[in-house]
Order: sequence, then C-alpha cells, then structure tokens
Amino acid sequence: MISCLQEDKVRLPEELNATEPQRQALGSTLQTQGTTDLEKHLEILVLENDRLKQELNGCQLQLQQLRVSLTGCTGCEHGKENAQLREQTADLQLELGEKTQLLAKLQQHLKDVLQDKTEREERLNKQIRDCHIGLAKQPMPSVKYITKRIEVESSRTKQDLEEAQARNHYLQEQIAIQRRLLAEQEQQLQDSWRTSAQLQAQVMMYEAELERTRGEMLEAFQAMEDEKNQAIEEVFLQARTEMKTVHENLNGVRMNLLSIQPALKTLTSDYNCLKNHVRDFPCLLQDAVNQTKREIYQAVEEAQKTNQDLLRKYKREMQLRKKCHNELVRLRGNIRVLCRVRPINQDDGTGLDTRNIISFDSDDDAVLYVSHRGKTSMFELDKVFQPHAVQADIFQEVQALITSCIDGYNVCIFAYGQTGSGKTYTMEGSPEDPGINQRALRLLFGEVAERSADWDLTITVSMAEIYNETLRDLLGSDPQKIEDLTMRNLLAKDPNEKLEIKLSPDGSGQLYVPGLIQIRVQSVDDINKVFELGRVNRATDFTNVNERSSRSHALLIVSVTGINLTSGVRTTGKLNLVDLAGSERVGKSGAEGPRLREAQNINKSLLALGDVICALRSKQPYIPFRNSKLTYLLQDSLSGDSKTLMMVQVSPMEKNVNETVCSLKFAQRVRSVELGPVVRRAENQHYSSRQDYELESPSAAPQQGRFNISHSGGKTTAGKRRLMASGEVNHRQSPAALPAL
Ligand code: ADP
Ligand code: MG
Repeated sequence: MISCLQEDKVRLPEELNATEPQRQALGSTLQTQGTTDLEKHLEILVLENDRLKQELNGCQLQLQQLRVSLTGCTGCEHGKENAQLREQTADLQLELGEKTQLLAKLQQHLKDVLQDKTEREERLNKQIRDCHIGLAKQPMPSVKYITKRIEVESSRTKQDLEEAQARNHYLQEQIAIQRRLLAEQEQQLQDSWRTSAQLQAQVMMYEAELERTRGEMLEAFQAMEDEKNQAIEEVFLQARTEMKTVHENLNGVRMNLLSIQPALKTLTSDYNCLKNHVRDFPCLLQDAVNQTKREIYQAVEEAQKTNQDLLRKYKREMQLRKKCHNELVRLRGNIRVLCRVRPINQDDGTGLDTRNIISFDSDDDAVLYVSHRGKTSMFELDKVFQPHAVQADIFQEVQALITSCIDGYNVCIFAYGQTGSGKTYTMEGSPEDPGINQRALRLLFGEVAERSADWDLTITVSMAEIYNETLRDLLGSDPQKIEDLTMRNLLAKDPNEKLEIKLSPDGSGQLYVPGLIQIRVQSVDDINKVFELGRVNRATDFTNVNERSSRSHALLIVSVTGINLTSGVRTTGKLNLVDLAGSERVGKSGAEGPRLREAQNINKSLLALGDVICALRSKQPYIPFRNSKLTYLLQDSLSGDSKTLMMVQVSPMEKNVNETVCSLKFAQRVRSVELGPVVRRAENQHYSSRQDYELESPSAAPQQGRFNISHSGGKTTAGKRRLMASGEVNHRQSPAALPAL
C-alpha cells in the first residue's frame, strides 16, 4: 500500500515543471477545465492523509498489543530492546503528529490559494467576457492590452502554483521519509514479534517441561506414598506376628520356668554335693598323686630293668652279629674282592678309543660286562661300583672292616689296577672329597671317642713305600729339612735308608721293621700333617711323582692299641691301606735297564700278592708270603683271621680294554679260589676267545710250584690279634718310643 502511494505522488510536479508551450497549453486547459486537476490532487492528498491516519492507528494498535505481550519479559534483553523501540515509536508518533499538523496547514493554505485562484479566474473570465463584449464594440489595440494583462496575471498564478507544488513536493518527501521510518519501525516491530514469539514458544516449552516434571514428581510422590503405606502395613503385620510368637514363647518360658524349678532344686543339691567334693578334692588328689607316683616309680624301675635287659640283649645281639659277620667273612676266606669302574672324564679326550665298553646288570650289583669286538664277557665279583658311585658309597662298604681293627683284627685293603684306573683316587682322594685313608682314620677317631669310657685307645700311623723291592720310610726326613726341633729328633732319618723286615727277637714269630717311624695321631689335623709329610717325602727325591707312584706300592699302616680300663686287657689291631703299583705290563713293551727291573719287580710283587691271596682263600697249607717284600711285610695282616679287601680299579674306555680284562681276570681268580675247582670259574667266564686278550696277568689258578714254604711267621696264630692276654703287643716299637704330633 505504501509503495503504491509513492508511485502516485510524482505526477503533479511534472506537470508543474512543464515548458512554455506546455504552460500555454496549461493556460488554455485552465481556461477550459478550470480548477479540476488541483481539486483532484487535493482529494488525493486528503485520501492519502486519511489512509496514513488509519495506518498509524493500526500501528498504534499493534504497538499496544506488543506492549501487552512483552510485559512478561521485562527483565530480558528483548524487553530492553522493546522499550527502546517503544521510545523511538513514541518519538516518531510525535514527529508524525507535527507533520500531520503541518500537512493540514498546507492543505488549508492550498485550499486558500485555490479559492483565490478560482476567484481570480472568475474575475478574469468576467473581464474576458467583458473584453469580448468591449472588443466587439472597440478596435484591436485594447484587446492586445488585455491579453497581456492576462498573461501577466497567469504567470503569477503559475508561480504561486509552482510554490505550492514545491511545498507539496517537500511534504511528499517528508511523508516518504516518515513512511520509510515507519517501515523500518514495522520491520523492527516484526523482529521483536518474532523474538517475542520465540521467547513465548520457549516459555511455553519450559512451562510444558515444568508441568511434566511436576507431573512426574507428583507420580513419584504418589508412588512413595503408596510404598510407605505398604511398608507400614507390612511392618505392622510382621510386628503383629512377632508379637504373637513372643507371646507364645513367653508362655513356653513360663511353662519351662515352672518345670525348671524342681530341676533347679536338684542342681542346687548337686552343687552342694560337689562343693563338699571340692573341699575333699585336694586330699583325694594328693592320695591319687602319691599313688600314681608310686606306680610311675614302679613302672620306671620296671622299664629300667627292661631297658637294661634289652641293652644286654642288644649288646649280645651286636656281638653275635659281629661274630656272624666275621664268620661270614671268614667263611668267604676273609677276602672280599670289589670292583670300582671309574668315570670317563674330560682329561680322557673324545676319541673313538675313549668309548665306554663296560655295562652293568641292574638286578645284580656283583656283575659287570665288558664288550669288545662284538663279544661280551661277564665278570662276577663280590660287588661292583659303577662310575657314578661316590667316595662315601665305597667307604660305606668297607667301614665295618675298618672298625674291626679296633677289636684287634688286622685288616688289609688293597687298591689294584692299571695306572690311571683310580687307585689313588679311591685310597687318598682329594682334600674336598677324601678317600678311604682319611675317612678310615676319622671313623677310628669317632670309635675311640665312643669307647673312651671303657678303653684307652691309641692310634699310630706309619707310611712306607716299596719300590724295586726296597722298603722306604715315607715319614723320615733329612734332619736339616725339619724346622721343629722336637720333631727333628723324632723324624730325623736318612731318606734313602732301606728298611729291613725282621723277625721279632722275643721269639713270638712276629715280624717287625726296625726304624719304621710311627706317629701317634689324635685329630684330623694330625692326619693331614702326616699325609702331607708322606707326600712331600715322596715328591722330594723323585722328579715325576706320578710316574714314581705308579711304580711303587704306597702303604699307610694304622695301628690301634687298646687297654681295657677295667680288665686291663690289651688289644692290637692293624689297618694296612695299600695303593698298589700300576698293574700294567710294562715289560711287554720291550723296556730295558732300570725300567725293565721296575716292571719285573712290580710283576713279581703283584703275582706274589695274587698267589698269597689265592693260597689263603683256598686254605693252602703253605702261603708264599716271602715271594715279595709286600706280602712279606703284610704277612701278619693277611694270614690267620685277618681281613683282606681287594678293590680292583678299572677304566671303562676302549683303549684300556686289555688291562681292564686282565685286572678283572685277576680279581675273578682271587675271588673264585674259595669256590675251588676251575670248573666254576670256567662257568663264569663266557668269553671264549682268551687269545683276544693278552693274558699275561697272574696265572688263572694257583700253581703249586709257586708257593714257597713260609717261615714260622706265616703261621701267625689265629686269634692272636683279637682280645689277647695282657702284655701281647703287635707293633714293632715300644709304645714309649712313639712320636706324637
Ligand atoms: P691311579 O692311582 O690308578 O693311577 P688315579 O687315582 O690317579 O689313578 O686316577 C686317575 C685320574 O682319574 C685322576 O685324575 C682321578 O682324579 C680320576 N679318577 C679316578 N677315579 C675317579 C672317580 N671315581 N671319580 C672321578 N675321577 C676319578
Ligand atoms: Mg696312583
């Protein structure tokens, strides 16, 4: 509607701005049409004014409505904006009012002008008519004058009209400006409306939310109320049932109380009775204690008696067991032959010839098998120790033999075998893992300590070696080399002095070695010192100790003498621990000179030992003790009821097969003698190809021709080494002369 008005308002000024011919035309139009156009314009302006007034009223109404709707949100930003807008609108309204008044004034003025013009036109028209009449009566020059006057008056009118039009134009512009402002206001109003609508929608949404939440809360409240009522009801019911139960219980308790009263009476009387008992209890207790004590003393006495009885029986059993053991060993010829197979170690290398050729029977620890060139031979001994056996296992087997020397028996333990088969390892061992020698002495110390209440026992040791059939004392040293003065006197000796084995001058037929040093030992320290001395002496005079040791027999002679403190009975036992020279047949390799002599001497002594053991085991009437220095020296420890153990050492490697077989044959021969005929031995020897092995070991059976008739020393009387009549001493030196460490 506003844009339509804007289009219409420009028509009048264009007409007012017309050119001279147009103006003339307008003049003629005015003459013909009179005031028609101006009136039309006036009407239009009045209409427009009315319309604007209506529009303004409409706006005011809307504004009123907006004010009403916006009263809710006074505090917010839009409220402020609205207030501003309202102020602006009020200003605009004021301005509009002023302008409307101005317009009214203008309209009034225009009306006056038009009125004036109309009057003038009428006057002019009258004049024209008068002029026309006069003209008709008068000549031309006066007409000219009138025309001129009209023109002049017409131009003034035109000027007034133009002014009026210009004013009108100005007013139109003002109205347009006002309209634009009104449109902007309208636009702002619409924005405010929109914002207000949004806010209203939000408010409605919040209200709906509030309503919903209130509804939910009401529901929850209602539910809680219901729940509470239900819980109260339940609790009430429960309380009622509980009350009922309590009442019932109360009734029961009342009943019980009624029934308990007699029981209480009984209890009270019982209590009184017990009180009386308690009063009497200490006396009763004392009586009972005394009675029990008496019974216990009696029982203890009886137990002591039984214990003593049992102890007596136990001792008797022990003696019997010892006797049985001794008898068993005696029955087996007092000679046991054991075999120890050493392990293959890193020093042996990894060649083919270091392969293991020995196997064992898991069910029989007295058997071993040697496999070579596709053939397997079985050897049977008293016991076989496999490579994994440790020093303690070996000692376990021999310790009974060792303790028997305290009881007065003579014992010999030999280590037999080729060089490198483990003889020294078994007898001496290493400081960390000692062998039979040190363990034997430790065991003897233990036994001596155990028997110290009844026996005064003395242990002495000697160390000797037999090399090339010569006996040498290993404890004697060059006096210059002994720092300790007291020891110098005791140990001073020419290291190369050859010792002799002699018959005791007391006519007892005993043998002794004049000058052989015996040292009394009382502790492990003492043993270590003695062993060290022996080792040093052995090493001092020979460049290659190992070589030397493999060609000489080393003897550790332990003597145990005892005096029974109550009976005064004396006993003497001797333990000979012998690390024999290597059993390998050196002579075969074509050795000459001293080496050949060494080999011959070794062969001779080992052969003699075999012969002696065989002869002893087969209970021959003659034992060839004198065939070697070794057997001669050990004569009294091999004969009679002495006990002998031969530990045959073998290497399990293929390269040692010949020596291993020879050693095992020797062992088997020694062991099987007791079984008599060769038949049995042949049964055990499954290897048929004897020629496969070099059979240069001692002969397979004792040859009668070899046995020398021993001198009377060989017939040492049985039982002489056991508990003997007082005064019988077996050692060769006077005990007073014994050096002690
Ligand atoms: P032998 O005295 O017969 O010449 P050794 O006792 O000197 O032989 O032993 C030769 C090597 O074999 C030594 O190095 C020794 O330690 C080792 N040996 C021997 N027997 C065993 C064994 N049972 N366990 C471990 N090593 C052994
Ligand atoms: Mg050795």
